[in-house]
Amino acid sequence: MTLPETLRIGLDVDGVLADYMSGIAGVGRVQGHPMHGRAAGPTTYGLVEPGWFPDTESASAAMAQLRDTGGLGRLQLLDPGAPAAVRKLRAAGHRVVVVTARGAQTRRDTVSWLRRHGIEADEVRFHAIKSEAGCHAYLDDAPHIVDELRGAGRFAFVYDAPYNRHVAGPRVSRIAEFAERLLDPAFDLSTFGCSQR
Ligand SMILES: [Mg+2]
Repeated sequence: MTLPETLRIGLDVDGVLADYMSGIAGVGRVQGHPMHGRAAGPTTYGLVEPGWFPDTESASAAMAQLRDTGGLGRLQLLDPGAPAAVRKLRAAGHRVVVVTARGAQTRRDTVSWLRRHGIEADEVRFHAIKSEAGCHAYLDDAPHIVDELRGAGRFAFVYDAPYNRHVAGPRVSRIAEFAERLLDPAFDLSTFGCSQR
């Protein structure tokens, strides 16, 4: 299957555009946990492991605190090449859709963060089930989200992180690399066994 001329391209926020793990490590440290930060893991998406959180309750509490105290608006840009990669995809005629599983109550923090960091997206969508955003191709770091997208017949690249190394399939470590792969004239979804619905 060849790609349509105009692609809808779904970009995740936390763990792809924004350095969520450093943000959550900062909250954990304030709560008295000996967080190692992004330099050493985490190796699990749930963050319950040595050097991170002792249990799911403390991990959930830290995530809620980061969200509810405006911390999501203060995260660092994870990939300095992201703004240029987004511009390149749009200049090629594609639509860039930021798709996040954050709750819609974070819309204001999320939109202002994107603007401040120069991410010029066409749309910002809030979906726990990301295939519902209707993109042809996605970039995401979360193993369960990549599974959901592929299960729904969507094409999903993995954004490389220590907690997703077990996930098979196409993987990039920079957003510019994702853009290059999509813009390659030889790129074909069927190479990856994806159907499009
Ligand atoms: Mg993510």
